[in-house]
Amino acid sequence: MKKSSAKKYVYLFGKGMSDGDASMNELLGGKGANLAEMAKLGLPVPAGFTITTECCVDYFANGQKNPAGLDAQVKTALAQVEKVMKMKYGDKDNPLLVSCRSGARKSMPGMMETVLNVGLATSTIPGLVKRTGGNERFVYDAYRRLIMMYSDVVMEKAEGIEPAEGCAIRKQLDAMLDDLKKDKGYKTDTDLSVADLKKLCKDFKVRIKKVLKREFPDDPMLQLQGAIGAVFKSWNGKKAVSYRRIEGIPDDWGTAVNVQSMVFGNMGDTSATGVAFTRDPATGDNKFYGEWLINAQGEDVVAGTRTPFPLNKETKNEQNKHLASMEEMLPKTYKELVGIRNKLEHHYHDMLDIEFTIQDKQLFMLQCRVGKRTGTAALNMAMDMLKEKLIDEKTAVMRVAPSQLDELLHPILDQKAEKAAKVIVKGLPAGPGGAVGQIVFNSEDAMACHKKKIACIMVREETNPEDVDGMRAATGILTARGGMTSHAALVCRGWGKCCIVGAADIQVDEVKKTLKIGTKTFKEGDMLSLNGTRGYVYAGALKTVDSSENEQLKKFMKLVDKFKKLGVRANADTAEDAAKARAFGAEGIGLFRTEHMFYGGNEKPLFALRKMILSSTAEERVKALNELFPYVKKDILATLKAMEGLPVTVRFLDPPLHEFVPHTKEQQLDLAKSIGISHAEFLKRADALKESNPMMGHRGVRLGVTYPEITAMQARAIFEAASEIMLKDRKPCHVEMMIPVTCDPNELKDQKKIIEQVAAEVAKKNKIRKFDYMVGTMIEIPRAAILAGKMAGEAEFFSFGTNDLTQMTFGFSRDDIGGFINEYLEKDIIPADPFQTIDRDGVGWMIRHAVEAGRATRKNLKAGICGEQGGEPKSVEFCHEVGLSYVSCSAYRVPIARLAAAQAAIKSELAAKAARKAKRK
Ligand code: ADP
Ligand code: MG
Ligand code: MG
Repeated sequence: MKKSSAKKYVYLFGKGMSDGDASMNELLGGKGANLAEMAKLGLPVPAGFTITTECCVDYFANGQKNPAGLDAQVKTALAQVEKVMKMKYGDKDNPLLVSCRSGARKSMPGMMETVLNVGLATSTIPGLVKRTGGNERFVYDAYRRLIMMYSDVVMEKAEGIEPAEGCAIRKQLDAMLDDLKKDKGYKTDTDLSVADLKKLCKDFKVRIKKVLKREFPDDPMLQLQGAIGAVFKSWNGKKAVSYRRIEGIPDDWGTAVNVQSMVFGNMGDTSATGVAFTRDPATGDNKFYGEWLINAQGEDVVAGTRTPFPLNKETKNEQNKHLASMEEMLPKTYKELVGIRNKLEHHYHDMLDIEFTIQDKQLFMLQCRVGKRTGTAALNMAMDMLKEKLIDEKTAVMRVAPSQLDELLHPILDQKAEKAAKVIVKGLPAGPGGAVGQIVFNSEDAMACHKKKIACIMVREETNPEDVDGMRAATGILTARGGMTSHAALVCRGWGKCCIVGAADIQVDEVKKTLKIGTKTFKEGDMLSLNGTRGYVYAGALKTVDSSENEQLKKFMKLVDKFKKLGVRANADTAEDAAKARAFGAEGIGLFRTEHMFYGGNEKPLFALRKMILSSTAEERVKALNELFPYVKKDILATLKAMEGLPVTVRFLDPPLHEFVPHTKEQQLDLAKSIGISHAEFLKRADALKESNPMMGHRGVRLGVTYPEITAMQARAIFEAASEIMLKDRKPCHVEMMIPVTCDPNELKDQKKIIEQVAAEVAKKNKIRKFDYMVGTMIEIPRAAILAGKMAGEAEFFSFGTNDLTQMTFGFSRDDIGGFINEYLEKDIIPADPFQTIDRDGVGWMIRHAVEAGRATRKNLKAGICGEQGGEPKSVEFCHEVGLSYVSCSAYRVPIARLAAAQAAIKSELAAKAARKAKRK
């Protein structure tokens, strides 16, 4: 071979001959890399070789033909495998059989193809029969499996043939097998006799010829070539492509092909095959967990055609407890497997998912990979392995995905109860946790239940913002329509409320108050149970378990805080939310909005606000503001108290004015009377408040500029509340006053003058030497971000209001993106919904610039974010990278943000270390 064409496409694995190892995952795929690693560890891995993912890419580039050099390298590798296996591929006396297995960088379970028993043909069958001591039954069982898999994977799928519904070749052959079993009155495949199998193989081949118009290849070499090509092609199979879309796996990775010597679990009653997890993947319990089948081949266990047997005592459950465990049946081999389990865990320092086969009591390892797990299991395993000294603290912190934490923070349905119950309908898992309650059909009823302390599930066709109080009051929400970003979903996730949306198979009649699921009709008051983490709905009341008592979680979060650099605060509008936020570990409040009191159902502050809005003279306005003052002060005081000296960022009023104008005549007359004006005058003023573009209208700081008395009232409320804490409670109190919707430093200068004046007045009145406060601004208009250097001359802190900043940077209305966002995501125009994950390129660029420019002016400028994205792990990572001081998010997301912050810190530390190491080299 010429040197220039010597791209290495083929890597051997097997006892004493592995070319690769686990670190070569990208080139060899997960399966290939781990087979090599296991062989290196001295585990019994049937020898074989891996054709690289790079080769797959070249195969497609080469018009779906083998790239130069591959055939020769395969031949050489096969010869070496033959040598160690002491068999020969295609040999008539001592034939070697192989499997051709797919395996990408990232596990894509069941999405690509594998062909077993490759190499069985008229010429090799007699040799194999002889070698197995005349075991014809086994040989023909292997042969019929080859025919079934090969015709499906190589002759149909890889050729791009799309058979009509129900006519796929695999389906036809399966039906033939079933018919034969039915005719003969057999229960399982193992009842088939040699004669049955021989006939089946013959009939299969006839059918294949008829349907696919080609002979089933009877030449071992042709079979191998066909199988390798088919595995490559399965990378672009329908299933694989749609899976990649969902999981965000790039199309250009390609799959590796593993050609591996066959070992047989279907050689009789001392042969078997199984799959196992080194620990329980559902609970994380340190128990070997698995299933096995006697006299079977690999795919039988997962295919579900036979009920798998339990591996051991620990794995027995209601369905399989009468079946024999491997521990009982093959104690010696089981012990060996346990030894391998321990060795693997100590080597990989993680929970693994393994596949094994036993050929006549001899154990072989066929696969291992890091196992998928639930959030609960991830947490428990991380903490257990830390204790077992299998991993260090940083690794433990990295082991739980922030999104998995979510599931641990809410009450959940009892797992046992769920197992015993039947899922009556499924929807999208929009809000995590479990909820059990009586069905109600509207907000009023939900609130009525809440008042009576009755748990309820609000069932709606879909929710809209008007339902918000009912949603707050309900224990769980179920809707027929809506997606993961629908109103209900967003709101519920923010609150950490259990919610299932888009359960298309339910029929809700909000007038008659009935819910139909299938043939069953539920009425108001009937009980329903929801698993919002999975989107499952159950009839009746299932048991729930509370998460707050989770000791492992408490310990884990302590560890998390040890590594994080970024502060985590909460967005909280009430003292109640503030207390919750502290319980979840918030280090302050990043956004406190006084507007909350106007939505809370208390008519008095709302009335005062309306009066203020409809005032036309400073005199009228001051009167209204004086009425409003005690409510504002009371709210602020309660929150400051709840935070006990931790920083609280109070955002100044930014109400959508026109929304607050009352609509009923009665209310209008009331208000007019209270202001002392006629109804006609009232209507005139209300009309004047109408804006054609309220988002960009008379709001935020603009209100404070035009009506300084509004700013003064709020400053007074804050300083009076602070005074009370300092004088009465003798406690410190730190307030950060935040001016919203600014675009120029002069706006801040103007507002600061008012605030400073009020501070001096209140200090003098209350005999306080000095208040501990800062005045800063929300950066939510692009111009403010651009002028950050100048803004920081006035502002003592920045808080990026990334909801509005995103809205104004993109020019996307947050409330109207529903019409196009899905298309934008599907067509890959933008990588993610920018209202959920910070847009690094645009909005992120602006944040980075603003932090740098701001700190050039004011060295220690505090900077945080308070938008929705503050609790989203990828955005938190970004905030860490740009050096923000803190993120602020809803209370339930505080632990998630803490974990994301710790992981970001650990990641950048590791990256820095790697960079230093690379430099030294
Ligand atoms: P998947 O990635 O879908 O799990 P695999 O390549 O792991 O596909 O193969 C499917 C099944 O076939 C597995 O259960 C595996 O154990 C079995 N299998 C694969 N190769 C061999 C082999 N060389 N000998 C015996 N069984 C095998
Ligand atoms: Mg597998
Ligand atoms: Mg805003």
